[in-house]
Amino acid sequence: MRIAVYPGSFDPITNGHMDILTRATKVFDRIIVLLAINPAKKSRFSLEKRKAMIEESIRGLEGVSVDIYEGLTVDYCRKVGATHIIRGLRAVTDFDYEFQMAGANRFVDPNIDMVFFMASNEHAFISSSTVNELALSGADISSLVPPAVAEAYKK
Ligand code: ADP
Repeated sequence: MRIAVYPGSFDPITNGHMDILTRATKVFDRIIVLLAINPAKKSRFSLEKRKAMIEESIRGLEGVSVDIYEGLTVDYCRKVGATHIIRGLRAVTDFDYEFQMAGANRFVDPNIDMVFFMASNEHAFISSSTVNELALSGADISSLVPPAVAEAYKK
């Protein structure tokens, strides 16, 4: 059984995240979307709301679940028996950060490896903060996010 963890802020989950997740289901038997608690980061949606939106969005994806964790992703992986951490890459700017994270994770546990999926062309510009800015300025973001998120912005 190949188990992977897909960590992030998901504030909110976007079609970019969903694309990575859908593609990763072809590689792993079980994927846990891990809402990482980061008290230093100011968030748009509460942890509970972000979790609820993820739950609704992954309903059709077999083997995918969601969890919340405060601490090192590597520690969480060990707890659930995951061997890989999934991340997405959009631009070179993502690469710098992810390269550093991969080194730090390997330092903590060399048995847990990171796997990167390249953003699809149509999703490469989507980030949670871009979606948030667009939505707040009144743009229609329904083609950029799962229905549960579009619904949340309408409220
Ligand atoms: P974090 O705060 O940990 O970067 P995010 O929720 O912003 O959390 O992103 C989680 C992961 O998803 C990161 O690896 C990020 O690069 C990736 N990601 C975000 N948006 C996209 C996208 N549009 N296409 C591909 N990967 C993406």
